[in-house]
Amino acid sequence: MLAPELADTLRGRMPMLWLNPGSRSLEDPLSPDLVDAAERRLLRAAPLLAKILPGLAGSDGLIESPLMDAQALRDALGGQSRWLFKADNRLPVAGSVKARGGFHEVLEFAEQVALSHGWDGVNFADLAEPRWRACFATYQLVVGSTGNLGISIGLMSRALGFAAQVHMSDDAKQWKKQLLRDQGVDVVEHAGDYAKAVAAGRAIAEADPQAHFVDDERSLSLFCGYAVAGRRVAAQLAEQGIEVNAANPLLIYLPCGVGGAPGGITYGLKQVFGNNVHCFFAEPLESPSVLVQLASGVRDPMSVHDIGLSNRTLADGLAVGQASMLASTCMQDRLAGVFTVPDTSLGYYLELAWEKLGERVEPSAAAAFPGPGWITGSQAGLQWCARHQVDPSRATHILWCTGGSLVPDAEFQQWLSQ
Ligand SMILES: *Cc1c(COP(=O)(O)O)cnc(C)c1O
Repeated sequence: MLAPELADTLRGRMPMLWLNPGSRSLEDPLSPDLVDAAERRLLRAAPLLAKILPGLAGSDGLIESPLMDAQALRDALGGQSRWLFKADNRLPVAGSVKARGGFHEVLEFAEQVALSHGWDGVNFADLAEPRWRACFATYQLVVGSTGNLGISIGLMSRALGFAAQVHMSDDAKQWKKQLLRDQGVDVVEHAGDYAKAVAAGRAIAEADPQAHFVDDERSLSLFCGYAVAGRRVAAQLAEQGIEVNAANPLLIYLPCGVGGAPGGITYGLKQVFGNNVHCFFAEPLESPSVLVQLASGVRDPMSVHDIGLSNRTLADGLAVGQASMLASTCMQDRLAGVFTVPDTSLGYYLELAWEKLGERVEPSAAAAFPGPGWITGSQAGLQWCARHQVDPSRATHILWCTGGSLVPDAEFQQWLSQ
């Protein structure tokens, strides 16, 4: 049950900062060493990726994004202390945070298929050979997606030689469908809701023994792929000489849809930094799915529709009515809080990212930008700081920018002019 005052605030579409009381009622659904295994898998697969994806040769096959200075953005938004911008909008090939989880899941599936066909498992780069591509061509990855997950799964599947089928609602962006079709992905369109597209994809995959369904709500492989980001960010902070400790904590702001990407990243960051990192999710006013799920407890699913919200938002990557129970369970005592963001402010943040940092971001990705302001400029935020002995002027604030570099010029210009 949601407290009536909270339900009223959400229904009134009042932007808010919700603070997580942080009690745990359910056990974690995964063991922490799965993230170690994911990290190793991505390292071992890097030579393969460098071979099959020309764009990755320069990075030796590692899928990672820069951690950039964002003082210009801070000055424009009136913040204090150090601001950084985690540029997952620039993640290679997929152009969004979905590269982290999606690529890992496709690679894990490729590994399993090859092992079941007698591969010795030693050298991942073997899997670029024609005989393995021919083997993979008899298998299919299937996913339901509003866009970015489909791009990540579809493009990596095709790069390895798998067939790929992406189920989308018919209102998904045309350019995303075209991009996938150009790479030989089978795009299946469904009238109406995204949930229908997911259900259709799941049913098709379950009926086909050569198919693998990528489950955005329940996949541990996706979740652990996202979680590897924690170690990568730790290394980037160390490289930049930025210390993280109790007096100089990390405050991280992550756009949230179903909760898998920001939940996995938070899980991974907590593994590395423990109590010295505090993560906040950003959700649209009409789609605060993780907020609703955590605030009502995680035993029974609860959707934003249950309190009369529409789940209609410009932030198409965040338009999810029902949160992942896997992610929600892991966030019970790991997430610091959630703030809600009106659609009307997304265009302004998107323009700021372009003007101040020269970064192309999509509306979903810009949702993190008001995060520091909630912590340092609201009563709830200041109370939270006092309770957790966080001095926000000594914190490093990281805006996690989750996507945008693949957005076509015409579409981007249209957002800028609105
Ligand atoms: C998918 C996505 C998110 C959120 O990830 P979830 O796993 O759905 O919570 C945020 N931003 C962008 C651009 C995305 O594509």
